Amino acid sequence: MYDVPHFVGGERYRGQPERHGDVFNPTTGEVIGRVGFAEKADMDHAVRVAQAAHLTWAEVNPQRRARVMFEYKRLLTARTEELARAFSLEHGKTLADARGEFARGHDVLEFACGIPHLIKGEFTEGAGPGIDMYSMRLPLGVVAGITPFNFPAMTSMWMWSIAIACGNAVIMKPSEKVPTIMNKLAELFLEAGGPPGILNIVHGDKSAVDAILEHPLVRAVSFIGSSDVAQYVYAKGAAFGKRVQAMGSAKNHGVVMPDADLDQVAHEMLGAAYGSAGERCMALPVVMPVGKKAADGLRARLEKGVETVRVGLPDDDQAQFGAVISKAHFERVKNYIQMGVDEGAELVVDGRKFALQGYENGYLMGPSLFDHVKPEMRSYKEEIFGPVLQIVRADTYEDALRLVSDHQFGNGVAIFTRNGRTARDFAKRVNVGMVGINVPLPVPLAYHSFGGWKRSGYGDHNQHGMEGVRFYTKVKTVTQRWPADAEEGGKDAGFVLPTM
Ligand code: NAD
Repeated sequence: MYDVPHFVGGERYRGQPERHGDVFNPTTGEVIGRVGFAEKADMDHAVRVAQAAHLTWAEVNPQRRARVMFEYKRLLTARTEELARAFSLEHGKTLADARGEFARGHDVLEFACGIPHLIKGEFTEGAGPGIDMYSMRLPLGVVAGITPFNFPAMTSMWMWSIAIACGNAVIMKPSEKVPTIMNKLAELFLEAGGPPGILNIVHGDKSAVDAILEHPLVRAVSFIGSSDVAQYVYAKGAAFGKRVQAMGSAKNHGVVMPDADLDQVAHEMLGAAYGSAGERCMALPVVMPVGKKAADGLRARLEKGVETVRVGLPDDDQAQFGAVISKAHFERVKNYIQMGVDEGAELVVDGRKFALQGYENGYLMGPSLFDHVKPEMRSYKEEIFGPVLQIVRADTYEDALRLVSDHQFGNGVAIFTRNGRTARDFAKRVNVGMVGINVPLPVPLAYHSFGGWKRSGYGDHNQHGMEGVRFYTKVKTVTQRWPADAEEGGKDAGFVLPTM
């Protein structure tokens, strides 16, 4: 049993924990730790420490800030194995998947190392007679990041690495289900030469989030989690005058055209649907074959393929996915499977029957496969976020395009086809933020940006890439003139809006 304290000003901070949450090992169902939940006073302390640290950090030149990021990158590479092992125990995901999460977070750190170039302003010489104009990107001050359980390391790095490189101080509020990794990442920041108070961790639940949203010194909030909470954070943050980006839930589709290579699609769908137990916002839990031939062919291949999927413990090298995050989520996914059955979909493979000897209290379930799922079913409309793949048959390409575009979520989508014209048309017209063409998980790399549409994303800027730099900076534009002595005071006052 371990305790997970807050981390403020470069040290462990206990605060006044009146409430705490249990931390579970999802594979066994045992309580392995306790995390203190912050209330308003603890958050206020952390924000004030961060504000004081920010004033100095913002004066450090961008190369020096980048050097801290370079050193962090070096340390993270050296420690990834150790961190991934500890983290997969608390999360339930396989070690291979945890390593992948660190690799993708690492990419954003690498991007942040380029901050001297990324943060450069713009300059126009001679915007008018003797007049120059320039704009600069300045840090906001204290910014906050609120992360979900499924990618607690990677999504945090999307936020704090760019925010800090831009000269801000950060408060991270990780998911209370997987709190430990963020503390370890913050300790590493000090080891990399980062000043205390620049990366602070405050744990908690809704009260901690509300304390962030209401705090006058928090200038911007980046949120990733489920859509209802994203919408709440967006609305409340804006009401308190903050800049907010809030990424939400997803229900991504894989549209399979009749000319697609069905063997390849079926193979890739297994990983895209069931990888990380389906607990990925870029998972493909819906496959939408166009036409009966593609649908029947795909179903036969998927049914066979599902039998080969191995569920297991995080350190099982052969396992393709592990436990889902919590008892409540385990029950929720099972309820959605039952809902699909009750709604009349055909349950081809039932993952609820899975059991692993010795781990009966863990939250392990096998992969489930549904066919003949209809667009009006609730189990299709909502996000399940578990190892469940639904086949939704579309008659025509236009039907598939419409269904995907009309869905409440618009995070990612993939189309599988050999026809470039169809792919091009789909990419342009589909009402979704991230599109894959024969790429099942179109997760943009660090130097592009990540963000969904519709209920999958509230706010303006996306995560990472130049969008991240824009989110964590404000622009100031200066117009300057240095008149010669003779010009001074010799002109009439101008009452007309100046034009050049
Ligand atoms: P969640 O919404 O339950 O929690 C996310 C964060 O919000 C956590 O830090 C949590 O403590 C906090 N929170 C929870 N309830 C709250 C409330 N009522 N008020 C204020 N704060 C609250 O999400 P989760 O279950 O941790 O994560 C899974 C969800 O995140 C899925 O819906 C998934 O699609 C989504 N997700 C989206 C993206 C994306 O980029 N779009 C990425 C990863 C995960």
